[in-house]
Amino acid sequence: MQVTAQSCPQTSFFEKNKFTILRNVAYLFVIALLVIVPMFNIVRIDIARNEAFILGKPVSLAEGLAPVIFAIGIFAILVIVLNLLLGRVFCGWICPGGWFAEIQEKFRKMWWNLKSNSAQRLSYILFTVFTSILFAFLFLNWITDLRVLVYKTNPSFIPMWLVFLGMTGMFYFELFIGKRWCRVFCPTGIYQKITPCYHIYKPTLVNPDVCTDCRECVKNCPMALDPRRMAYIQDFYKGIAACIECYNCIDSCVKAQSEKCLPVAMGVVKELPPRDQDFISGKPLSKH
Ligand code: SF4
Ligand code: SF4
Repeated sequence: MQVTAQSCPQTSFFEKNKFTILRNVAYLFVIALLVIVPMFNIVRIDIARNEAFILGKPVSLAEGLAPVIFAIGIFAILVIVLNLLLGRVFCGWICPGGWFAEIQEKFRKMWWNLKSNSAQRLSYILFTVFTSILFAFLFLNWITDLRVLVYKTNPSFIPMWLVFLGMTGMFYFELFIGKRWCRVFCPTGIYQKITPCYHIYKPTLVNPDVCTDCRECVKNCPMALDPRRMAYIQDFYKGIAACIECYNCIDSCVKAQSEKCLPVAMGVVKELPPRDQDFISGKPLSKH
């Protein structure tokens, strides 16, 4: 008689990584826009040549500043509106710094931990220098033709090198500390914590009976939260004000539970289910 292993419905790769995939698509779309818009002179200031472009047409530097200021204004309004309705969704889905910080965090865990040797630490430093340069180019490209950095005869050669080195140094600090930047230091993140925000959608534990306390959702939360409880907590660092709505916790739970043929315990809700104070303060689930 043929013996068959216990089977459960197969969870697809997309289902296990749904939010990770969607977020990376959103992040990369924004980064592509940041590259394409100045590259094709759709909007660009070129300090080195003392000119600017709007929709491919050369205009004066002063005229070119207007759409840049307009774009910064739109950016600020976007952050405010998104934060008001959905919390720090800007950080988790749009901000290129957030994307770079997530990549850094993966390499940081691999190369810069208590057990890392000198070669690994050096690799992390070099990798951070590389990503800092890329990040600096991403923004410098909006205000100058990057070729100015190799044209010694251009009057902007030295000033642009100084700007480039200053930006790279600043980004090095930001990227070196990985996701800690988003958790503690980022001014846009701090702003979103202290201004009014209403999370229409809240990630939380929706099915406590099937939670195995595997803590995969906790280990994979980039903001170092306990995703099962954080929506009940009002705190800048441990509570919902810190959540960037990335839903890594849900992807992690889908993966962990599908391996055990169990239903998913994490989900997104509009209304939080009632929970007692012991659960919110972190008592083990078995006691509830
Ligand atoms: S609680 Fe979930 S959605 Fe919020 S930051 Fe952590 S992993 Fe992302
Ligand atoms: S990943 Fe899912 S099952 Fe594991 S602790 Fe988190 S909510 Fe519970």
